[in-house]
Amino acid sequence: MIDDALKRRLNHCTALPSLPAVAVKIIEMANDPDADIGAVCQYISLDPVLSAKLLRTANTPLYKSRRVATNIRQAVSILGTHTVLVIALSFSLTHSLMKNPVPNHGAVFDSTIFWRRSIASALAARALGEKLELSYLDDLFLAGLIQEIGILAFWVIMPEEYGKVFASTSDHDVLLNSEREVFGAGHDELGYALLKRWHIPDYIALSCINSHSQPEPKSLGPTLQSCLAVSRYLADYFLYPHEAEKMTALNQAAQDWLGFDANVLIDVIKIMEVGLNAVEDLFEMNIHDPAEVSGILAEAKELLMIHDLSRMRDLEDKSQRDGLTGAYNRTYFDETLRREFNLAVQYNLPLTIAIIDLDHFKNVNDTYGHVAGDSLLAMVVKTVFDQIRQDDTLSRYGGEEFALILPGTAVAASRNLIARLKDSIAEIAYKFDGRSTIRITASIGVAGYLENAAQIRDPRDLIKAADSALYAAKHAGRNQIMEWDGNA
Ligand code: GH3
Ligand code: MG
Ligand code: MG
Repeated sequence: MIDDALKRRLNHCTALPSLPAVAVKIIEMANDPDADIGAVCQYISLDPVLSAKLLRTANTPLYKSRRVATNIRQAVSILGTHTVLVIALSFSLTHSLMKNPVPNHGAVFDSTIFWRRSIASALAARALGEKLELSYLDDLFLAGLIQEIGILAFWVIMPEEYGKVFASTSDHDVLLNSEREVFGAGHDELGYALLKRWHIPDYIALSCINSHSQPEPKSLGPTLQSCLAVSRYLADYFLYPHEAEKMTALNQAAQDWLGFDANVLIDVIKIMEVGLNAVEDLFEMNIHDPAEVSGILAEAKELLMIHDLSRMRDLEDKSQRDGLTGAYNRTYFDETLRREFNLAVQYNLPLTIAIIDLDHFKNVNDTYGHVAGDSLLAMVVKTVFDQIRQDDTLSRYGGEEFALILPGTAVAASRNLIARLKDSIAEIAYKFDGRSTIRITASIGVAGYLENAAQIRDPRDLIKAADSALYAAKHAGRNQIMEWDGNA
């Protein structure tokens, strides 16, 4: 909770501009569910700057109306009372604050950066809403615009103390925590208190608080809060598109809170571009040069594509692997063997496979339990993976049986590797319970295509051959390697 001392300073701070009379009136009307169109038009007309802004806004691509508004009444009838009130509020709230810059005291606060970010967040929140086809786009805009207003309030009421905290970090979440520690409240609560002092309706004022808490999971549907949360990252990326980590953070936030993938994000950035000029004009602030903007989109497309590719590779990889050991699964083995076999036949290439079966593995489970058995299986796979080449494929063929495909390798050429694999499996010393050491051995059956091309006509023949060699190795006493001798 925001403490009394802080609240007093906020309430008695003369440096905070009071709202212009029009804004006060607009807020009053925004709080009044029965505000009538005539009254709204009348009050807005009293402020020529605001009227001009509203008219221009009504005629921008932000509102895709085919009708052109030439006076306030038309603007109100095209946009609707609520929208007009919210736009007017967005403008008049920020206008007085922007025109009365925070005293700088030689500290690090840069109000241009602050407003650029706020305006970009507003544009971002609105664009996200538009993509989601939400009905309250202007509320999103206003909420995005003022979500960080508490930072401004801190600067105004205690520039020196706040300057120290502000300068200590560039990370937004760290800043929020430091504020809570040092001042007993963060800029989320202070922003809310400031907006309440101005009698801003709760549903808008609360955005200061909401945008700083964890949004609900996306399964509950997009909300003002999740749009706001993502808008901060989107604005950050939009302002600093050359910093790759901004894209990573944006991608993650959009995925987690809105379920947006890369392509949807690109659409949202396009929507932001369409509205950019209108917003720059409304707030008389330059966010980006036109040349920069087309660059952002091109770069975003590239970066997002890379992100998506690595995600796809990740997914693909998971569906191909065995969950326990990380070796490839049986389906992947079958496909790979079929492909390699066809290549070997077509180009007359050697192809060797080895089936590795752990000896008396049942005893391990019986003596030490299944969990120990599982760990041992994973250790065996890691041991083999560490020694094979990129082109070789290790798969989990059955429970404690693994199959190794060695493309382009003749049986004779595989001997060293296979012998090393057998030895290194025997060298695994698994410390169980910190007391006993579990050891295992493996029997390995090897078969090559090219050495027996006449008998081995398809992948199944090759597997059968390796299997029968394995059987011979077991029969001969285990912990050894047998090569298929051409006899079934
Ligand atoms: P052999 O030397 O003849 O191969 O004896 P073995 O005990 O290894 O062979 P058998 O085929 O009789 O038993 C295989 C054992 O492997 C039994 C089974 O519980 C164990 N096993 C298979 N899959 C898993 C697994 O995922 N985790 C664990 N912990 N054990 C497994
Ligand atoms: Mg076994
Ligand atoms: Mg077995």
